[in-house]
Amino acid sequence: AEGADEVSTATVRVQDGRATVICAAGPGAAVPAHPDHRLRPLAGYAAPEASRRLPTPVRTKPVLRMPGAAHPMVLTFDDGPDPRYTPPILDLLRRHHVRATFFVCGEMAENQGGLLRRMADEGHVIGNHSWSHPLLTRASTAVVRAELERTSEAVERAVGRPPQWMRAPYGAWNRRVFRLGAELGMDAFAWTVDSLDWKEPGTRTIIEQVLGGAGPGVIVLAHDAGGDRSQTVTALRTWLPRLLADGHRFTVPVRGEV
Ligand SMILES: [Zn+2]
Repeated sequence: AEGADEVSTATVRVQDGRATVICAAGPGAAVPAHPDHRLRPLAGYAAPEASRRLPTPVRTKPVLRMPGAAHPMVLTFDDGPDPRYTPPILDLLRRHHVRATFFVCGEMAENQGGLLRRMADEGHVIGNHSWSHPLLTRASTAVVRAELERTSEAVERAVGRPPQWMRAPYGAWNRRVFRLGAELGMDAFAWTVDSLDWKEPGTRTIIEQVLGGAGPGVIVLAHDAGGDRSQTVTALRTWLPRLLADGHRFTVPVRGEV
């Protein structure tokens, strides 16, 4: 059946508290320390790596959490960039010296090369979230490939290198999505905690959701586009400084560590 091999991460909740949902990875002992958290903004991506596609394993489920007992958290924003919400988010991240990962949609990124370059220049990671945000598990092979490839090309045009990570819209994956993403050099990245900002539930709910789920290696899902994201921005102004004050740290994913 079509749905037999689907893997959905849309229902993953930290309340599950199951370490076993973590994607099978290498030995935890090999995880390096991360002294690079809260880096000052970087000068940009190194040119020699441009266009290089890393050999990528075909997963059976996406990365749901970073490995190790002391890994910094990973902050992700999907669906953008949006000139209304992405700049204030970037301002806030810069103020706190926090790097994040932006899973952009090609149709949004196409005309926002300046915002993509700013992300790269300030040390953030840009991932591929498809071109038009379809349910990839219901799309043909040709459509999935085009959705991913066009988006990677748009990112590469803007910042000089294609994405190394992808996130399927709605967290809906299947074997074909994993395989086509890997063919384009992208590893599959999901999340641990959904901030629920896409529901526009009020800033208090978003703040409580993130603070309640915070912890080592936790990947936070938020959105800088796709609707009215003013609650996302307002909530971030509260929860990010609070988590930092509580000793939590943030980093960006590095290929090979998961
Ligand atoms: Zn999305």
